Amino acid sequence: MLEGKAALVTGAGRGIGRAIALTLARYGADVAVNYSGSREQAEKTVEEIREMGRNAVAIQADVSKADDCERMFQEAAQQLGSVDILVNNAGITRDNLAVRMSEEEFDQVIQTNLKGSFLCMRLAGKRMMKKRYGRIVNISSITGVHGNAGQINYCAAKAGVIGMTKSLAKELAGRSITVNAVAPGYIDTEMTAVLPQKVKDAILAQIPQKRMGTPEDVAETVAFLASDKASYITGQTILVDGGMGI
Ligand code: NAP
Repeated sequence: MLEGKAALVTGAGRGIGRAIALTLARYGADVAVNYSGSREQAEKTVEEIREMGRNAVAIQADVSKADDCERMFQEAAQQLGSVDILVNNAGITRDNLAVRMSEEEFDQVIQTNLKGSFLCMRLAGKRMMKKRYGRIVNISSITGVHGNAGQINYCAAKAGVIGMTKSLAKELAGRSITVNAVAPGYIDTEMTAVLPQKVKDAILAQIPQKRMGTPEDVAETVAFLASDKASYITGQTILVDGGMGI
């Protein structure tokens, strides 16, 4: 499904990003595995992709920094030939009630989750426009659609990602480039592992399927949107949430 394509996945050493990188590779793509601090995990992901017979490279970069993003795209294109697929997955949380939230907590989440996605989309867009082909998939969140107490910074960033997805989809649609978002619900990763049991139980009670999602649930949707099977879908946000958002 993705043979001959080169993908760059941000935050792909662990969690959802790792599952996306492995899934894209399983469908035939070569993959640049970006990481910020998780070097060993990123290298392990690269090893697993190479074992599948695909090309892969681990690239350290902080997506909130423009220079890092520039270097990351150059390295990815050098190592893999091009970047046909961008998956903006890197993300952080700094949860707090709005009245207690510091400016730093607000800014950090906006810088990584919103600005980081913009910086990568800008770089990918330029390259893809020249090639007249591309797939961009942004990882938003159900909380960006519905809001969530204690996450005003995160929800602002994730709602912003949906706005950017629609805007860029309109800008690039004429060049066979699609831009879509995937909004996961409650997925079993380190990000959610830290939640208190009481909160976990309350979230589970809101999910019609009565289970957490897996990183692979998200990854399969990303792979579909990254493929030519989804060539007439752009500007959309697909919730992968076991029915939580119904
Ligand atoms: P996670 O396990 O905490 O992983 C976060 C990933 O983001 C890590 O690979 C991390 O890389 C990377 N990252 C963080 N800051 C970065 C930066 N400045 N530059 C580059 N990479 C950076 O989280 P996850 O659950 O897999 O989440 C992945 C995405 O899904 C995020 O955008 C998150 O908001 C979204 N999401 C998750 C859920 C959920 O329930 N888990 C629900 C909705 C949306 P390093 O380890 O190398 O720092």
